[in-house]
Formats: sequence, structure tokens, C-alpha cells
Amino acid sequence: MLQVPHTAPASCALSVVIPVYNEQAGLDALVERVTAAARAIFGERYEFILVNDGSKDDSWARICAHAERDPRIVGINLARNHGHQLALTAGLHHVRGELVFVLDADLQDPPELLGPMLAKLREGHDVVYGQRVKRHGETAFKRGTAALFYRMLGKLVDTHIPPDTGDFRLMTRRVVEQLNAMPERYRFIRGLVSFIGFSQVPFPYERDPRFAGETNYPLRKMMALAIDAVTSFSVVPLRFASHLGMLFGLAGLASLVWVVWAWMQGGAVQGWASLAALTLILGSVQLLVLGVFGEYLGRMYMEGKHRPLFIVAEVRRHPVAANADSAATGDQPATGEAARVAG
Ligand code: UDP
Ligand code: MG
Repeated sequence: MLQVPHTAPASCALSVVIPVYNEQAGLDALVERVTAAARAIFGERYEFILVNDGSKDDSWARICAHAERDPRIVGINLARNHGHQLALTAGLHHVRGELVFVLDADLQDPPELLGPMLAKLREGHDVVYGQRVKRHGETAFKRGTAALFYRMLGKLVDTHIPPDTGDFRLMTRRVVEQLNAMPERYRFIRGLVSFIGFSQVPFPYERDPRFAGETNYPLRKMMALAIDAVTSFSVVPLRFASHLGMLFGLAGLASLVWVVWAWMQGGAVQGWASLAALTLILGSVQLLVLGVFGEYLGRMYMEGKHRPLFIVAEVRRHPVAANADSAATGDQPATGEAARVAG
């Protein structure tokens, strides 16, 4: 198996990982519900990692207050906003649990499902992923575009990425270790998890409305995630060029036959307008295809730089937990460390 460099050694039973961006309004309720759910099953043998993804509100101050109070809570402050998938990646690089439970900060994924999902995992699986059978409080537009996206992805991609899933899931440590060993920058985490394999099963659930605040995924970010997903897992769009080429070639041939036939009938074919329209259409198709090539080329260029995936400004652990951890692992105490994780 692959050498896996970036995962801290295990020292507890469960790590809960949550990316946080401008979630101050719901944070206290989140901490309360996640703590209750984890404590009910694991007692003290869990940790709760909150990754602040450059929030502009008071989220980080609140995370720090919780980390001061509760030794199980770890706060990770990223140096700026890196986006949901990289914030989650940062959290996953810090886990110390044998199992890893990922959910969103807005309580759309109920933390109380930890128990039933764990029961499912213990039937002998490595990943139990939440699959949304209902989405409460989301607009018809969001539901429609999400449905379209998953259908399109299913057609373009060879790896089976289950539809209607987010990043809400319970995973074993070996899956997270493999995930952390993947250096790519454009991360569509639910797809990468599918790619890893082992035994993965769905867990149907009803997605709640946001507890507080507003979605941080406007259409622009959803489109970006969709493009990341397609380009990370498929080269089919690169083949559009040859398909389009064949299509336009055939159309050209047909029009040639028509022109010759019209000439033989004694009628000259009129029309610079149709020629101009054809030229424009061809030009635009060529530019579109170039754009698709450019998208892949740009991604290769960015990946080739091997910049760190995320920059951590600070890690907050309760002094007791930090000292116990460093005694156990031989690490420096994590408080205030400035860490870089290279790709
Ligand atoms: N999030 C993040 N960084 C961002 C945007 C979002 O860490 O730049 C977090 C956010 O706090 C939440 C999760 O990612 O925990 C999902 O975001 P959101 O609920 O806004 O997305 P939606 O559920 O509307 O798709
Ligand atoms: Mg949400």
C-alpha cells in the first residue's frame, strides 16, 4: 500500500471535522448538538475539529472560546478563505481519530445520525455516506441544478460517484489516510472518496434547512465545483473536439452535394449571409473547444506549481489536550503553530 505521509497518528476513537465560513449564528447550537451526539457514543474518546476558513464574522473568536472550555475541541484557523473543499482537506489532515465524521456547520446534516451511521459502518464498511432523499428549505432551482449536475456527472465520469450526496459521511481512518495522500489541488472530495474504493454504502436521510445564516454556495461556486468535478474525473470533454469536427465535416459534405446538385439544375446558389453565419458558427465552435483545452491545460499548470493546498495560521487546542497529545506523539505543542502542508 501507498506510503501515507500527512496523517497524524491515531489517539482517539472519533474525529468530527467541520469547515466553518461565516457561521457565527449557528456555531453554539452546532457545538452543543455535535458534542451531545459524540459523547453519547464515545464518552471522552473523541475530538471535534472546527476549521475556520477565513470567516469575516466572529466565527473564529467563538471557536477559540469553545476550545478554551472543552479539551475535545480543536480550532484550526486558515490564513485566508480557501473554499469548502480545501478547508475540509485541512481538517482531514489534522484528524487523530480511528473514525472520521464529516458534516457541514449549518446543521443541515443532523449530527444525531452519527449513531445509526456508525451501526451501518460496523456491519463491515469503510464509508457510510449520507444520501439526500429530501432537501428541506432549499430552492427548486438549487434542487434542480443539483439533480442535473449529478446526472451529467454520471454520464461523463467512469468512477461511480453516487448521486445526491454531499460530504456528509462517516469514514474509517484508512480511507482518510488515502485521501490525505492525494496531492491534487482541485479537490472534489466526495469523488475522491468514491475513487478510493473499499466498501461504501449510502445512508438515506432528509436534509434539514440551514439552522442560521445564508448559503455560502452561490451559483458561481456551484459551477466551479461542477467544473472541478468533471475535469478531475473525466477527459471526455477533450474528445468533444473530434466529435464536433466530424459533425461539421458531415454537414459541410452535405451542403457541397446540395450546391453541386443545384448548379446542375441550372440555378446558382445565392447568399453571402449563409456563408457569414456558417463562418461565425464554426469560429465559435473552435473557440469553445480551445476553451475546454485551456481549462485542462490551466489546471495542469496550477497543479505543476506544487503550492501548499492550504496555509494554517494557528491551531488551538486546550492546553491539557495539547500537552497530552505531544507527550503521546512526540510533537511540539500545537497551539500557535504555523504549519504548511505541501502537496
Ligand atoms: N464553507 C467553507 N468555506 C467556504 C464556503 C463554505 O468552509 O468558502 C463551509 C460552510 O461553513 C459549511 C459548508 O462549507 O459548513 C457548506 O456550505 P453551505 O452550507 O453554505 O453550502 P450549501 O449547504 O448551501 O451547499
Ligand atoms: Mg449548507
